[in-house]
Amino acid sequence: MTALTHALLDLVLPVRCAGCDVSGEPWCASCRGEVVRLRQTPARRTWPDPCPPGFPPTWAATSYDGPVRAAVVAHKDGGRVDLLDLLAAWWCDAAATALEADDLTRSALRRGERVLVVPAPSSGRSVRERGRDPWAEVVEQATRGRSGLVASSVLQQVGRVRDQAGLSAAQRWANLEGAVRVRRGASVDGATCLLADDVVTTGSTLTEAARALHHAGAHRVVAVVLAATPRTVGAIRRRRGDGRLP
Ligand SMILES: [Zn+2]
Repeated sequence: MTALTHALLDLVLPVRCAGCDVSGEPWCASCRGEVVRLRQTPARRTWPDPCPPGFPPTWAATSYDGPVRAAVVAHKDGGRVDLLDLLAAWWCDAAATALEADDLTRSALRRGERVLVVPAPSSGRSVRERGRDPWAEVVEQATRGRSGLVASSVLQQVGRVRDQAGLSAAQRWANLEGAVRVRRGASVDGATCLLADDVVTTGSTLTEAARALHHAGAHRVVAVVLAATPRTVGAIRRRRGDGRLP
């Protein structure tokens, strides 16, 4: 394609890199290379610092910065539905690591039990404003055709919950306390649950979601996120120096 054709197409149908917003391609060569490099690193255990009581064992595919951060935002708020496959596949890689590493979850699967993949609940308002639930779409895609894994949107936010963006860790915990519950009519009694979220920051969402699942009788709850904020991942590095738990 000539530069002129590119420029004309860009006028009619602007195409921008999901990672750095440069115009011309859905992914520029530099961001594509960075994503390929990041995907080669296995998911690792992560937790926020400070870590709220009840925070579930959590694995993160990567850290939340650079092209990954931009792609998550572009998929959620920029209408970049073409990123669904990449985000779902990447989350799936991390889920495979978590399923192998967590003894209880691994043995549930080996016994032929189903593992419920539970998306962290979005607020009703954000779903209404966006007209869709982007993260639930990623979880649906990630579990499609995976034996033993069943997407199960059993959690909902209840009451008045402020947008978490811009709140401190303490404010986030207070904001979500008691605000997540299992939907009426849904059952997780005795279930093994894999909580799924896009980003872990202070851990308040995963902690509340895990609390709600345990309260409703879930047997085991672990979490897998696409990305952990650099501060969260940094907590791991400080503890062991090599980014891995003992
Ligand atoms: Zn780029």
